[in-house]
Amino acid sequence: MRVAQVIINRPAKQLNKPLSYILPDKFGDVASGTRLLVPLGGSREEGILIGYEELTEAPDFALRAIIQVLDSEPWFTKEMMDTAKQISQYYLCSYGDALRLFTVHKTLKSYDAPKEEWLVVSSEFSVTQFSPKKKKQRELAAYLIEVGGAPKSLLRAKGFSHMVIKQVAAEPGISIESRFKDTKTTFTELLSKEEDIPLTDAQASVYKPIQQAIDEHRYEPFLLHGVTGSGKTQVYLRAAARCIGEGKTAIILVPEIVLTDQIVRRFVKTFGQEVVVFHSKLTISERNNNWERIRRKDSHIIIGARSAIFAPAEDIGLIVLDEEHDTSYKQEDMIRYHARNVALWRAKAHQCPVILGSATPSIVSFYKAQEKEYTLLELPYRIYEQPMPEVHIIDMKEEMIRGNYSVFSDAMMELIESTLEEQNQMIMLLNRRGYSTFVMCRDCGETIMCPHCSVSMVYHQEGEELRCHYCDHHEPIPTMCPKCASKKIKFFGSGTQKVEEELRRHFKEARIARLDQDVTRRKHLAEDILRDFGNHKYDILLGTQMVSKGHDFKDVTAVGILTADSVLNIPLYSASERAFDLLTQTSGRAGRGEKEGRVVIQTYNPLNYAIIKSKAHDYEGFYNEEIANRRELGYPPFKDMIYMVVRHEKEDMVSDIAQRIVTDLDSHFQSNDIEIIGPYESGIKKIRNMYRLSIMIRGMDLKELKEYIYNSWIFTQEGLLIDVDPI
Ligand code: ADP
Ligand code: ZN
Ligand code: ZN
Repeated sequence: MRVAQVIINRPAKQLNKPLSYILPDKFGDVASGTRLLVPLGGSREEGILIGYEELTEAPDFALRAIIQVLDSEPWFTKEMMDTAKQISQYYLCSYGDALRLFTVHKTLKSYDAPKEEWLVVSSEFSVTQFSPKKKKQRELAAYLIEVGGAPKSLLRAKGFSHMVIKQVAAEPGISIESRFKDTKTTFTELLSKEEDIPLTDAQASVYKPIQQAIDEHRYEPFLLHGVTGSGKTQVYLRAAARCIGEGKTAIILVPEIVLTDQIVRRFVKTFGQEVVVFHSKLTISERNNNWERIRRKDSHIIIGARSAIFAPAEDIGLIVLDEEHDTSYKQEDMIRYHARNVALWRAKAHQCPVILGSATPSIVSFYKAQEKEYTLLELPYRIYEQPMPEVHIIDMKEEMIRGNYSVFSDAMMELIESTLEEQNQMIMLLNRRGYSTFVMCRDCGETIMCPHCSVSMVYHQEGEELRCHYCDHHEPIPTMCPKCASKKIKFFGSGTQKVEEELRRHFKEARIARLDQDVTRRKHLAEDILRDFGNHKYDILLGTQMVSKGHDFKDVTAVGILTADSVLNIPLYSASERAFDLLTQTSGRAGRGEKEGRVVIQTYNPLNYAIIKSKAHDYEGFYNEEIANRRELGYPPFKDMIYMVVRHEKEDMVSDIAQRIVTDLDSHFQSNDIEIIGPYESGIKKIRNMYRLSIMIRGMDLKELKEYIYNSWIFTQEGLLIDVDPI
């Protein structure tokens, strides 16, 4: 007897395993990947048919029947279902949650995306079907032949009358097709194809192996390491063209979409209707449209932030992750997946290449390239050979000795003044989003570190003490510096509002714009600010990490970084990597046009290797030091980590559950070179009435341990947050 295996679409981890149902004959043969309505307890639930199972004997409970089939064709391909399974097992989330990543909204019910009528030409169609007198008809015919097809709404917008469109549509060689509506607002400017720029020799040599992999339908991860302006985007464009030439779909991932507008524009300009843009600010109906266009192959290129990796493409020929080191590829709430891993899994299943591009590759990716797991491709020079900006490091301790207690060093003041005077623009990094709570000596620059983990200790108001976020170590706040005995111990990083005020006070004439999270939450504001800054309506752009990437502004000649220390001291093993990226990327904003750039970095740690290597624009030098540290301390890529947070309303229950998890895991994995640290308090003790305790697991190979958790009570423990590969 054959039963259908159904995953219930509900975020409960107890429903991780498929349930069995009878498929009534009236539905005919329903393919795996189809969405259904099924009874569960007293209610009806949406579910996903993942396959069938042959039962040799009838089960000892009454099987229930599927109520309704929701899709006419399956939504999930086998590859999508397999990838979801892999996500579920790797990131320890439920299969249903992982499947849902591939859908547009939470409920699965079919949704009718609006369609529109297209005039599509075949090869038989020709302009000579109209007499030379019919000028408008000929014009429209020529246009359609050039673009292959277009929606009626666009033709109307281009000034063709109903009458003319109707006449051309009636001709042999033209067919009317109903397609999912394009969600782009401005068709016309998009259809001008960008000239095909020939690749430089350097680009051609990195493109060659990528092209081979595309042509041979072969899985191969490439790490494309190239400074900004070295021509990486041009290589992506070329590879995408090759991919869609093969009739396949390309997925292009970019970090936060607002800021990478430029790359999106270049894709749209080059490929017009072939591109759909996907980002979190689209409405559900816009997303649906985009998804449908990909599914129906009306468009073959999808460009978007992290979640675009779940595009419902059946035949992927290329995946690109631009700025692959960017931390926005990791989702930090709900299902904590990393888009890079998902990209690699999907590419492997589709047998296609992946390009991981960056000027500052993540340490883990560069290591994998060294180990030949990825193919390393390098573009070491800028296309237009602009010089790298000159970077000055200012030791804030010396400023103090000279009696300057302001947030701006003399060098910073000078940089601002001269930039304003020369009527150039400046970007200033504020870093408010960084953790504001580390403790540092203002005399010697010493930061209080955890003696066990070599990450900085974090100040906790509660109990007035310092805690490590990686282990149980905590200590009272020292009254003097353990290194130089100075009493000038200070909490750092706060007071950015003050910085803005100071700036306005000193430079009354300057036009200042601020860009941070508060601003980008509003749909168009960030874009407006960036565009206005690009048009030189502001002199200074103040902002958090967000100002470190995105547009090239030709009038920006100066970059100021107020406290490199607040990035260096985030309490994470990857603090140096993040600092190096941020400093390098932000500095790289200066002098992109014809004018030379200048950068001032203020710090209490002028000898820190992330700062020194960034000043020298020396990625490999930084990598070598960082990888040696990681090896010695046992951090990724040498060891894997899993971070857990147990949450419960009752304080004693939290410690009870956390202790049981630790005891259970200890009893199974103690001997296997796996450290299980905790439970310990980290971060905030109580959030939204839930008490929290942390557990950190670290080891060379956590595969078995993950498998164990996946099939144990721990997996379904309510309130347990699991973060695999925390970054
Ligand atoms: P990246 O993505 O590495 O920052 P881009 O692809 O944006 O680099 O290239 C930098 C600049 O050089 C852009 O203005 C681009 O249009 C131009 N460019 C790229 N490739 C070529 C080429 N082969 N010939 C001429 N100009 C190029
Ligand atoms: Zn000191
Ligand atoms: Zn520690």
